[in-house]
Amino acid sequence: GFNCGIVGLPNVGKSTLFNALTATATAQAANYPFCTIEPNVGRVAVPDPRLEMLVRIGKSQREIPTSLEFVDIAGLVRGASRGEGLGNQFLANIREVDAVIHVLRCFEDDDITHVEGGVDPVRDAEIIETELMLADLDSLEKRLPNLQKRARNRDAEAMAQIEIIEPIMEALREGQPVRAVIPAGHEETVRRLQLLTSKPVLYVCNVEEDAAAEGNAFSRKVQAMAAAQGAAVVIVSAAIEAEVSQLEDAERREFLEGLGLKDSGLDRVIAAGYGLLGLRTYFTVGPKEARAWTITAGTKAPQAAAVIHNDFERGFIACETVAYEDYVRYDGEAGAKEAGRLRVEGRDYVVQDGDVLLFRFNV
Ligand code: GDP
Repeated sequence: GFNCGIVGLPNVGKSTLFNALTATATAQAANYPFCTIEPNVGRVAVPDPRLEMLVRIGKSQREIPTSLEFVDIAGLVRGASRGEGLGNQFLANIREVDAVIHVLRCFEDDDITHVEGGVDPVRDAEIIETELMLADLDSLEKRLPNLQKRARNRDAEAMAQIEIIEPIMEALREGQPVRAVIPAGHEETVRRLQLLTSKPVLYVCNVEEDAAAEGNAFSRKVQAMAAAQGAAVVIVSAAIEAEVSQLEDAERREFLEGLGLKDSGLDRVIAAGYGLLGLRTYFTVGPKEARAWTITAGTKAPQAAAVIHNDFERGFIACETVAYEDYVRYDGEAGAKEAGRLRVEGRDYVVQDGDVLLFRFNV
């Protein structure tokens, strides 16, 4: 599965947000096979209104959403790259996640200490980014001598790596995160270096309750900063989310509408996390269940089948495909087939978001 690490300075609302995310998952546990995996790891259902539609049209007994993992990564403070706070532990945790959700404190509350003195989310973002950049620079500096030694012996792979690493180190020294300077065509090489600032980032502004709909002056500063980086921002009130997570679906909608909100902040965080990772959803629909499955953009049919079962990839013959819109328009597979909207695709087919698929395979 794919996962997002939740980071931020102490007392910004990380745990509140994480607990709300997992409480929602726990509340839905009767319907969904998700749970808290470890104290700081939670698997959360990805809300997708299309699934409800597919269950109805396909007359399936139940719907099973796809899921995303969240990891609560505590312990980051100024100096973490030098081992302050939980230092190395924290950095190791971040290395293992696919994307970073950076929670920023955008609420004022004199009773809750701010480790840096006052509320300033842009400064906070820079503190954390700086620690991560220092850690990246450190890890590349440790790697370089060995590569240089191999390069002197004309090791082609080492020479190629140095050519990628040196400009990245230069950028880091100038205060640019790796994700801003990944050379085109070398995404995979850079990904394998497991650098902390190479991961996509989503900023989550934690605002007080009355600013949940519109944001506030703090969140607007974050939005300006994020826009300059091409990063996404979600505004939430962790306090509201904590309350929402305790409610049943029907009550939840009413509660949110009362606050002028269309959907919960958590739903928006989950959706943004999904987008951040470049994920796509395809569906399978049968009498037992309608189910959503996660793939990365560009995945071909056999590898998409492997998400369900490895045997599906090994024995892959073809897949029958109906686009979600056609499935709805023609009231299911039979109707779509009659209308000529069911296609049979082979191994090179790139699965599209919303495809309703049926795989044919040899066992
Ligand atoms: P963490 O250290 O980042 O995990 O922060 P916590 O989630 O533990 O929150 C720290 C404190 O801030 C707790 O007492 C929370 O109840 C409080 N808190 C979290 N979000 C908000 C908020 O939006 N408004 C206010 N006033 N307090 C909040």
